[in-house]
Amino acid sequence: MNDKRLYSPKYIREVLDKFGFKFSKALGQNFLIDGNIVRNIVKGAQVGKDDYVLEIGPGIGTLTEELALNAKKVVAVEIDKNLLPILDYTLASYDNVELVQGDILKIDIHKLIDEKLNGGPIKVVANLPYYVTTPIIAKLIEDDLNIESITVMVQKEVAQRIVAPPGNKQYGSLTVFVNFYSDPEVLLIVPKTVFMPQPKVDSAVIKLTIKEAATDVDRKLFFRIVKAAFSQRRKTIVNSLSNKELGLDKEQVRELLEKSNISPKARAEDLKIEDFIKICQTIPSLDI
Ligand code: SAM
Repeated sequence: MNDKRLYSPKYIREVLDKFGFKFSKALGQNFLIDGNIVRNIVKGAQVGKDDYVLEIGPGIGTLTEELALNAKKVVAVEIDKNLLPILDYTLASYDNVELVQGDILKIDIHKLIDEKLNGGPIKVVANLPYYVTTPIIAKLIEDDLNIESITVMVQKEVAQRIVAPPGNKQYGSLTVFVNFYSDPEVLLIVPKTVFMPQPKVDSAVIKLTIKEAATDVDRKLFFRIVKAAFSQRRKTIVNSLSNKELGLDKEQVRELLEKSNISPKARAEDLKIEDFIKICQTIPSLDI
């Protein structure tokens, strides 16, 4: 095993220089350089010897190494071809790591879990590239994948939006979406100083424990309603839901809200997930 751990900034510089690697801003490359944070992410994810782990964006392998030391197997998907020879070098002594070159948004994750991760259930652990945080989370939680939990570093502001309670300014469609599929919690707030190069904003590690999504709900309709409600969040719910896209006029929305026990004066940010579910389930009973 390599005696130099990958979170040492000096060693990272050495490795990057050896391979002539240049950071790509466009790919959201901000590498971790703090051993405590790396250890705390893996501890927070509760990765143990029986776990199959999917890592997204291993970079030069800093988090991957800590995962390899704790998990049964790690599959790490990296988009940047230039990092593959570096990862081969830095992770050479770990035989429970498999590298996959590709874009996580394009890869068939069902197949990946079946073929390389024992069919799951798996844990996802990553320091996510910030330019695609939301699409990656959406793909992971929407697709009925065999995932137990997702522990990821995201921008602090995104973490705050995900865990915001109803009534809070940050509470929005992302909150409802993530809470529909999982129980989210913030594990750590992370200062920008622990990355190379330093990003402009602070970060946070969140853990999404996947739950069984409500099965008695038309998901498409549910998210159309949530989107319509928050697209005009300053308006009362009766106004934001009366629109052509949903095919409802004001009278119908009033009836819908009354049947769902929701005040027409409420705004989207006042509604809990259960309220949106109620609205969704009541629509078929309307005379339209
Ligand atoms: N895990 C490393 C660490 O913590 O030091 C690197 C994290 S860095 C914030 C994000 C990584 O994701 C980079 O290595 C980047 O090349 C990779 N990446 C960016 N977009 C990706 C995508 N669509 N699919 C897979 N990897 C991606």
